[in-house]
Amino acid sequence: MSTPAPARATAAPAPATGRAAALLVSALGVDAAVVVRSPGRVNLIGDHTDYNDGLALPLAIDRELVLAMAPRDDDRVRLVSERDGVVHDFALADLVSGVVEAVARWPSWTTYVQGVLRQRWVEPDDGARPRGLDAAVASDLPEGAGLSSSAALELAVGRAAAVVDGTHWDPSAAARDGRRAENEWVGVATGIMDQLAVAHGRAAHAMALDCRDATWTHVPVPDDLDVLVLDTGARRSLVGSAYDDRRHDCEDAVARLGVASLRDVDDLAALADLPAALRARARHVVTENERVRVVAAALRAGDLAELATAMRASHASLRDDYEVTGPELDTMAALANETPGIVGARMTGGGFGGAVVALAHPGEVDVEEMVARYREVHDLPAEVLVVRPADGTSLVDVVGSG
Ligand code: ADP
Ligand code: MG
Repeated sequence: MSTPAPARATAAPAPATGRAAALLVSALGVDAAVVVRSPGRVNLIGDHTDYNDGLALPLAIDRELVLAMAPRDDDRVRLVSERDGVVHDFALADLVSGVVEAVARWPSWTTYVQGVLRQRWVEPDDGARPRGLDAAVASDLPEGAGLSSSAALELAVGRAAAVVDGTHWDPSAAARDGRRAENEWVGVATGIMDQLAVAHGRAAHAMALDCRDATWTHVPVPDDLDVLVLDTGARRSLVGSAYDDRRHDCEDAVARLGVASLRDVDDLAALADLPAALRARARHVVTENERVRVVAAALRAGDLAELATAMRASHASLRDDYEVTGPELDTMAALANETPGIVGARMTGGGFGGAVVALAHPGEVDVEEMVARYREVHDLPAEVLVVRPADGTSLVDVVGSG
């Protein structure tokens, strides 16, 4: 079998739209005033660079999370997700309590929602007036696959909240709210890449993102290249602690080098005096930034050979220097890179489990064969998605006054 036609992955309007609106009625008994769609994202290259003030090349994808919402007259928030149908209920006043206590008290997906609402309403700096809401979530984004369902959820809540409080929609501010929610409320020390990619994605484009000052340029993704997400089916619960270890290594290297961030290092010779383990971590970050520049330029120029070389080198660097790949990602990337029709492939996201991203010639990849070969090595529910670059978080429909 060849690559599925892109149309299979490009359902418009998203079926999740109807599911979210129906769930709001069936679980909470209210009609949607607003429906928000919020995409996942895949990173073409530039991993573990964002928290080092570095470069990345993500794109928002046409797999999305949808939130149907109706404002309330009081300060209660009721939430339901189709994934378990459980109704969660809290008062905005409860969010005033401390972060640590809050994480302990609400250890569920509603923590992301609470974090965003807290950023927006409990510590408001723009005069936004808090008000409760009812919301239902439906999603076609696999969770924990490295497609950033968490940022999709955060930005969807931010977009809905802007409707509730009637303020201007500011995607960059909402991205910052989402990141702080994730860092300070959920307790995951991520950078800003995910939220910016979800907030500012553009159809048919990737974003050449500079995380030092949160600026970007949109880079066209050629029509004659498919973006494939090769989900290994592996999920790793230890990612959080390993992620924190890597961040700590980078901070250690920065302190020893006397620079503001690893972004300030251009010359690998500057790393010579670091202990070997830290030197390897820093070398990944410095060389990965350069590979992002190379891939952005190669996309613009249509230089497939450069793309292939840089993507393979990125995987090797994440495997050998940063040590965040693991057997499943290594198997999948190696298989992909030797599969006819694939231009280049590398792990994407935080690592350990999750997905490989590949650029491919449409219709030329034997997806079933590739998955079968992977499953000879790892007995996991691997899956291949053909994704297309999509627009960032937006309103689908405004039914009522909002
Ligand atoms: P990723 O962002 O790579 O998908 P994360 O672990 O960062 O993985 O975020 C996944 C979390 O986001 C889930 O554990 C859940 O809390 C939340 N989430 C994502 N999608 C949904 C959904 N459809 N319903 C409820 N919560 C969701
Ligand atoms: Mg996430």
